[in-house]
Formats: sequence, C-alpha cells, structure tokens
Amino acid sequence: EILNTVLIKNLGKHLDEEVTIQGWLYNQRGSGKVKFLILRDGSGLLQCVIVKQNIGEELFDKTKALTQETSITVTGIVKEEPRAAGGYEMQVTGFEVINIAEEYPITHKEHGVDFLLERRHLWIRTPRQMAILRIRSEIEHAFRDFFYQRDFVLADAPIITPSACEGTSTLFGLDYHGEKAYLSQSGQLYSEANAMALGRIYCFGPTFRAEKSKTRRHLMEFWMVEAEMAYFDMDDNIKLQEEMVYYVITRVLERCKRELTILDRDVEKLKNIQLPFPRISYTEAVEILKEAGEDFTWGEDFGAPHETIISNHFGSPVFVHRYPTSIKAFYMKPDPEDPNVVLGADLLAPEGYGEIIGGGQRIDDLELLKQRVEEHHLPIEAFEWYLDLRKYGSVPHSGFGLGLERTVAWLCGLEHIRETIPFPRMLHKMYP
Ligand code: ATP
Ligand code: MG
Ligand code: MG
Ligand code: MG
Repeated sequence: EILNTVLIKNLGKHLDEEVTIQGWLYNQRGSGKVKFLILRDGSGLLQCVIVKQNIGEELFDKTKALTQETSITVTGIVKEEPRAAGGYEMQVTGFEVINIAEEYPITHKEHGVDFLLERRHLWIRTPRQMAILRIRSEIEHAFRDFFYQRDFVLADAPIITPSACEGTSTLFGLDYHGEKAYLSQSGQLYSEANAMALGRIYCFGPTFRAEKSKTRRHLMEFWMVEAEMAYFDMDDNIKLQEEMVYYVITRVLERCKRELTILDRDVEKLKNIQLPFPRISYTEAVEILKEAGEDFTWGEDFGAPHETIISNHFGSPVFVHRYPTSIKAFYMKPDPEDPNVVLGADLLAPEGYGEIIGGGQRIDDLELLKQRVEEHHLPIEAFEWYLDLRKYGSVPHSGFGLGLERTVAWLCGLEHIRETIPFPRMLHKMYP
C-alpha cells in the first residue's frame, strides 16, 4: 500500500495499527468534546472518533469548519467496533484538511430523480450509487476472468462501422471524412471473423442504439459482453452462457456482501438459482402466455410484460429457444428440422428483468446466407467480407451478446437501468 495509506475496505488487516485514510467527509456529528466523522474513500464508509483530550484543542476546533464532501486525510488507530457498518472504527491521532467543500447540493435528505440525474457527477458519491458501481466493476471482472480461465481470446470489435448490422432504425450516424459511418450496435459480425481466426473469442465493448422509446431497461449507450465460438452448436452455446451467468452471480454473492446489504438486495433470490437453467421453446413460451390469459399470436416478438410472465413462471433465469425465423436477424441459422424457427435462444432474467442475453447459432452455409441477405434487402456489397467467412473454411459456430447494465440492474435489484452506469445516456438526456 502506498504511503502507508489504507483502503477502508481493507481495515481488517490493520487492527490496532496506526494508518492513514485519504477520503472525503460524508457526515459528522458530535459534541464539544467528541466528534464522529464519517469518512468515505470510495471503498467504504468509516467512523472516525476524534476526542478533544487526545488531539488537543487547536486541531479539535478545526473540525467545526469541515463541511460535507471536504477532502481530508485522517490518521488513527484501527479498532474493532461491531456496531459500525464495516465492523471497524478509527481513533483519530491527527488529520489534514485538503480542501473545504462548498455547500453540497446533495444532502442526506431524499431528492427527486431528475434533480439527481442533473447532478450525476455528484450523485455517484452516495453510498448506494457507489455500491452499484462497485458491483458493476466486480461483474465486469468476473466476465473477464470467466473467459480468461477458459482460454478465450479477448478480441475487440470496431466501434465505427461502415454499415448497419441489423437495419438502420436504431443507428447513430456520423461523418467519417465525408463518408457515412455508424456507431456499432453490436460487434457480432466482426466477432465471427475473429472466431474464425482465434477459435473462441469474446469482446466487451460499448454499444450504441438510438432507441426511440423510454423504458426501464434501454439505454442509448451500453456495454455488451459478446462471445463467438467456432465449432459450437446451439446447445454448447447455451451451456456456456448458463455457466457464465452462474459464475458471475456466485462472484457477486461472495465478494459484494457489503454492497448487496447497502442495496437491501434480497440475496436469497440469487442464492436459490441453480444449474441447469430451464429451457423452453418459443412455442412453449407462447402456451405459457396464453394460459396466463394473454392475447398473443405465434410469430410476434415478446414485449417486456410477456418476458416477465414467462420468467415468473420459473422463478429462475430461463432460456427461450427456437424463435420464429421471421422476427430474428438474417444471420441466425434455421432449425434443419423446422426452418420456420431458428437455433437461437434468449436468456430471460427472473424478477421481471427481461432479456439479458440474445444468442444463437449462425448460418454457416454460403448460399443460404446470401439468400438471407437478399430477403432482408441488405446491400450485398457491404457484406462481401462477411460472406467470405463462409467461403474459406466455414464451420458451425455460435455466439451471444449479454447486456452488462441489464445484468447489473438484476443482480443489484434496481428499478431502473439508469443507475447501473456512471453516466447514463438516455432518450433526450445526455448531461452531464
Ligand atoms: P430488447 O428486446 O430488450 O430490446 P434486443 O433483443 O434488442 O433487446 P440484442 O440485440 O439481442 O437486444 O442485444 C443483446 C443484449 O444487449 C440484450 O439481451 C440486452 O441485455 C442488451 N441490450 C440491448 N439493447 C439494450 C439497450 N438499449 N440498453 C441496454 N442493454 C441493451
Ligand atoms: Mg431492442
Ligand atoms: Mg429482444
Ligand atoms: Mg435480443
């Protein structure tokens, strides 16, 4: 640890030692003789006890000027304190004020969400938001570790792309030195090329979609974990996904206990999740909807309420496979036994969180792929390179894309996706 400073979350390793914490003042209370400073350093909150008798009148009087969010380093002895949130407190031997904060707009009272969103750069300093962002970080690391342990190669896909992967309606366009270009809404096609080179790959990049509707689960900019595997069929693909999701849940339960407590997450719901996840066909899912009294016709895509009904039926993440070919992307491989459906599966999260993964087996036959490109009225020239992949050693292959923010929302138990990312990009809202 640098300069004898310690993170609050690691205090347990320094019991009865004198250490320094570098942080900000979150709150304070006390009397003329004893002050309790609640400090935050990004890793947690710590109660620091300042006794006038111990540190002298001059230093003690300086605590009067300390406002919320004042930056301060505090030195003291770490003591066990079962009543404190982290289990420890500090008996202060000295402190240094770095910068006295102006009157802080986000107080310890309740604020409306619009007020907070306008001040997102400060809102992220509150314990709840910090807990979410720490869980997000843990989830990202867990995904990377999962793939690293399985010898996947991290192969990044481009962000600026010349053509639309699945239609232009949700694309953000930009000017590329006089040429029309778009921000990537999926790295998939490039990931397929990377998989034909490297075998099993994943990428983890930002994704952009000009979603025109306001929902609790759509952002304009989000992060997607995408994997592509050569020689994987639909079942291999599903097995990999459930192992991955299970691994990530386990990591969060193990390493984010404090954060989950701050968020008041009902962890039993996560602990009860078991492998394998149920698998049902789209046709079976339609039956479930009809039994639940929904007016639903085979061939339609599910909306959020439908997904909720289906996942509530199981109380577990559930794979829905073999969607109608007509509602899925051009590259999805039709089921040889029934070409009206594709060998794709979505993973629906429980507790109403909806689709978190879209995945499937890709068409590996050149002629069929060409035919699909035409049927979807896509410009064939733009897909020459993609068709090449089927000319030179084509193999069965599969992949999927998982939305990071949806996963964070689910594991944290959040009402809305806007809290899952430091600076959410939403419909007509991109400040700060
Ligand atoms: P939905 O049906 O919910 O709009 P989708 O089918 O359009 O999602 P895919 O293209 O399959 O999404 O993308 C893969 C994953 O990316 C989704 O399962 C979801 O987890 C996530 N995702 C898609 N769109 C968004 C968005 N606008 N904001 C956040 N995450 C998203
Ligand atoms: Mg969508
Ligand atoms: Mg969908
Ligand atoms: Mg999808």
